[in-house]
Amino acid sequence: MSSLLVRNATILTMNDAFDIVEGDVLVRDGRIVHVGSQAAGSSARVDLVVDARQGYLLPGFVQTHIHLCQTLFRGYADDLPLLGWLRTRVWPMEAAHTPTSLRASTALAAVELLRTGTTAVLTMETVHDTEAVLEELEGTGLRATVGKCMMDAPAEGVPARLRERTATSIDESLALRRRWDGAAGGRLRVALAPRFAVSCTRELLEGVAEESRRGSTLVHTHASESRAEIDLVRETTGMSNVAYLEATGLASPRLCVAHCVWVDEREQALLAQHDAKVLHCPGSNLKLGSGLAPIAELHARGVCVSLGADGAACNNRLDMFDEMRLAATLQAVRRGPGAITARDVVWMATRGGARTLGLDHEIGAVEPGKLADLVVVDRDSPHVRTAPDPYSALVYAARGTDVRTTIVGGEVLVSDFALTRLDARAITAAAAAEARALAARAGVG
Ligand SMILES: [Zn+2]
Repeated sequence: MSSLLVRNATILTMNDAFDIVEGDVLVRDGRIVHVGSQAAGSSARVDLVVDARQGYLLPGFVQTHIHLCQTLFRGYADDLPLLGWLRTRVWPMEAAHTPTSLRASTALAAVELLRTGTTAVLTMETVHDTEAVLEELEGTGLRATVGKCMMDAPAEGVPARLRERTATSIDESLALRRRWDGAAGGRLRVALAPRFAVSCTRELLEGVAEESRRGSTLVHTHASESRAEIDLVRETTGMSNVAYLEATGLASPRLCVAHCVWVDEREQALLAQHDAKVLHCPGSNLKLGSGLAPIAELHARGVCVSLGADGAACNNRLDMFDEMRLAATLQAVRRGPGAITARDVVWMATRGGARTLGLDHEIGAVEPGKLADLVVVDRDSPHVRTAPDPYSALVYAARGTDVRTTIVGGEVLVSDFALTRLDARAITAAAAAEARALAARAGVG
């Protein structure tokens, strides 16, 4: 039995009524047991008290599209469009990974994610050695749903080491699911992660759809990110990208589709009809020059949209505050200011992420019974203090460096801006050496 009291906070509960309350959050055994003003009297009987100093307390951010394995690629893959970026940088570098470099990449990502308030991720790793990522994640305290990347098609530019046999790809994914789904007290889970239609055979996508149904397993993929990609999909399948995913049996509430920049009205309707989840990555879409996703339209159709940084190879930050600001401001350019409000964006970053992961009953809101995945955002700084609306303050004014406290499952992982479990200096130094060696092996940089 361990207990934690976070006192003196402005609590954005992100519950169905969007209640904002002043007071405390009491946590026992990793779960929230009380939210509001009466918990203060119980501070004598708790193991740890955290003073939020009137900061904003809200559910930890859920990034639903990320590649932890690409964190070491930061700065080695700039100024390229999607397909050139994959063929000349990202695929050669993924092929050059070893279990040691994967661990270094994962740890480096965890440092940045936890410090900037992300408590849960949906991540697509590379083709091989995903066990190393899961083993490293176990020690970080981060909540994660992890998929090994699946790619079996003879697509242009794929290094031999990343090209799999269809059956092997599925068998390895299922072996990971058996070993890791529900590990670390439920903190780690496994998804099926076919990379995208261009690098997967139809047989593989149909096999993934079957296994997803059988095991109620999430499917994490990319679709309709760039124009060149949707042209390729149309050439080879005769269909639009989302229609093709539906034809393979993949369309379901478990389908998590990153990007959806170039989805026409029919594809938007398909996504809504199947309750498929859209993973919006505005920073990545801008840097790769992919385009501006029709998020206001998808949101208006009732599609669940959540947010992710994508990866350090295409963003190059893993900070949810950047994605939140862009999610609102890019729709202002497309459809006028307020098309997606600051409150909509905070929902996407918390509840939307929880729904996408199939964990809406466990995380994404500050409510009794839910797991204590929480962040406190400092309000003392001059660039935040005077903003009257909490959602506006978080989306338009605050930065990742304003995160004072990060808590996952009741464990304080960032305390007063400092990591508790991880040694940021040692991890960064090790990652720098691994990144240089990896780039040399890949012949990049
Ligand atoms: Zn991606």
